[in-house]
Amino acid sequence: MASVLTAEPPVTATVADDTLKAKSRGVSTLSASHGPDTQPELTDGFHLVIDALKLNGLDTIFGLVGIPITDLARLAQGEGMRFIGFRHEQNAGNAAAIAGYMTQKPGICMTVSAPGFLNGLTALANATTNCFPMILISGSSEREIVDLQQGDYEEMDQLNAAKPYAKAAYRVLHAEDIGIGIARAIRAAVSGRPGGVYLDLPAKLLAQTLDAAHGKRSLVRVVDAVPRQIPAPDSVARALELLKSAKRPLILLGKGAAYAQADADIRALVEKTGIPYLPMSMAKGLLPDTHPQSASAARSFVLAEADVVLLIGARLNWLLAHGKGKTWGAPTSKQFIQIDISPTEIDSNVAIAAPVIGDIGSCVSALLAGIDSGFAKPAAEWTGAISERREKNLAKMAVTLAQNPSPMNFHSALRAIRDVLKTRPDINVVNEGANTLDYARSIIDMYEPRKRFDSGTWGIMGIGMGYAVGAAVVSGLPVVAIEGDSAFGFSGMELETICRYELPVCTIVFNNNGVYRGTDVNLSGGKDVAPTVFIKGARYDKMIEAFGGIGYNVTTPAEMTAALLEAIASGKPTLINAVIDEAAGTESGRLTNLNPQSAAKKK
Ligand code: ADP
Repeated sequence: MASVLTAEPPVTATVADDTLKAKSRGVSTLSASHGPDTQPELTDGFHLVIDALKLNGLDTIFGLVGIPITDLARLAQGEGMRFIGFRHEQNAGNAAAIAGYMTQKPGICMTVSAPGFLNGLTALANATTNCFPMILISGSSEREIVDLQQGDYEEMDQLNAAKPYAKAAYRVLHAEDIGIGIARAIRAAVSGRPGGVYLDLPAKLLAQTLDAAHGKRSLVRVVDAVPRQIPAPDSVARALELLKSAKRPLILLGKGAAYAQADADIRALVEKTGIPYLPMSMAKGLLPDTHPQSASAARSFVLAEADVVLLIGARLNWLLAHGKGKTWGAPTSKQFIQIDISPTEIDSNVAIAAPVIGDIGSCVSALLAGIDSGFAKPAAEWTGAISERREKNLAKMAVTLAQNPSPMNFHSALRAIRDVLKTRPDINVVNEGANTLDYARSIIDMYEPRKRFDSGTWGIMGIGMGYAVGAAVVSGLPVVAIEGDSAFGFSGMELETICRYELPVCTIVFNNNGVYRGTDVNLSGGKDVAPTVFIKGARYDKMIEAFGGIGYNVTTPAEMTAALLEAIASGKPTLINAVIDEAAGTESGRLTNLNPQSAAKKK
C-alpha cells in the first residue's frame, strides 16, 4: 500500500516535519514554524487524534502504516504512545480486539484506506460479533472525489462499507470535531453490549490546522464510559424465585461474564448456591477448571437434564445448539434465566422465563444479595449424578491421555502441554484450529479468568498471531498459542512482528500436514494434492528462525515438555513444530455435522 499522496503533498510534508519535532504541552502544538509573538500556536488533525486518545487513557495502537496514516503513527510514537506495527491489518485488528476484551478499554487499530481498511474490517466484524470493544481508525480518500466517484487513490466509501459490520461508524471532517468523534467512538465501543466501532479520518482532516487553545478545548474526556446498568428489582426477584424452585439447576458462564470482571461475585454466587456450572470456552478459568462444581466433564448430561439454566453473559447461539433440540433434552422441562446487558438478546432463540437486564456485575451482586440462608442447595441426587458422570468421563479421558502412540497424536501432545501450563496459570493461551481447538479446549485446564482466547463466536481461523501479540502486549505475560497448522497459516507472517517486539510468545503448530489431516487424496487421481493437503513434513520452526526467534521440532510428548519449558523460561519468541500423526483428526473437528453432505444425510 505504499504510494504517493497527490492531494496537497506540501501541507502534509510541512506538518510532518514540524510536528515530528513538536513536544506535547497538554495539547501538542505546531510551534516550530510559528513565532509566538506573531501568530497563535497551532495544532493539527494528527495531534488532535493523538491527544484525544491519550486524554482517554488509550496508549497503544495496533496498526499498519501507509498513506495517509504514516505520520500519525510516527507522531503517536513520538508523543509517547505505543505503536505496534503488523504485517497485515486483520492481525492488527485482532490484536486490538483482544486488548479490548482483556482491558474493557477499546483496542485501537489503525489502517490505511481501501484495502487496508477492508483487511481491518474483518477483525472489526469479528470484534462486534464477539462483543469485544474496539475502534478501527482508517485513513480515507477525499470525500469530494469519493462521492463523485472520480477515481481517487484507494477510492472507497469506507464509512458505508463499515456500517453493517460495526456497532457504530463515524466520520470526522473538521479538525475541531476530532475530540467529539473519538469520544463517540469510545462510548459506542464500550457502553452497553461492547462492539467494534469504525472511525473514518479523511487524509485532509489530519493536515488541517487549528488554533492550539481552541483545539485543546475541543477534546473530550469521556466520563463514565461504561455506566453501571442496575437490573430492575422485580426482574431479580423473578429470577430468584425461579432459581429457588429448581430441582436440577445449572449456571452457564459465557465470555460476557469473563469480560465483565465481576470475578469475585460470580465465584461467590456459584459457591453460595452450590449450583453446578459450565463455562463456555473463553469463560474457562473464571473459576478454576478443577473446581468441584465444574460440570465440564459432564456437559452433555447437564445440558440435557437441567431444569433451570442461569445464563450469565452467554448467548443461546449455535455454540449452545440454540437452546433447543436433542442437546437440551425435553423442551417442556427447561426454563432459562438470562443475565445480559442487551435486552434484545432475550428470547432470541427460545423463550426466556426470567430475563435480568443489566451489567453482569450489578446483576450478579443483586442475585447474590437475594441468596439468603433459606436458599436450599441443589439436592445430592442432582449433584451426585453429575459427579458420577464427571468421574466416569474423566477416567475415560485419563486412559486416552496416558497413551503414547507413535507418531504423537493430539491427545498425547496436549497432555504434555497441559502438564506444563498447570505450573504457570498466569500464562495466556491462544487456541485455534479444528481438532486442535476442540481437543485443547477440553484437555487444557484454565485457572485464572481472561487467559483463554480462541476462535470465539464465529468459530473462525485466523485470530492466532493477532490475539497472541495483543495478549502479550497488554498483559506483559507469556503467551502460548496452540495452533492447527491450517489456522496458523492465516496469520503466520506475524512471527516477524512477534520477533520484532521481542514478545514472549510460544507458538505451537500442530503439524499433521493438512487441513483436518494430511491423508486425503485427489479424487481425480491427478497430480495436484487434495484440497485439504499441505506440504508434507513442513518445518514451521524454521520460519521463526528466519527472524531471530528460536525454533523447536518435536516428535514425542517428552520432547514437547522439554521444548515448552525451555521456551517459556527463555521469555523469547519461540515456535514448536509439533509433528503429529497425519491420519489423526476428523473432518471439521466436532463440526462435522455442519458440512452440507453430513447435514443432508441426517435429514
Ligand atoms: P459465549 O460465546 O462465551 O457463550 P457470548 O459472546 O455468546 O458468550 O455472549 C456474551 C454475552 O454477554 C452477550 O450477549 C453480551 O451482550 C453480554 N455481555 C457482555 N458484556 C456484558 C456486561 N458487562 N454485562 C452484561 N452482559 C454483558
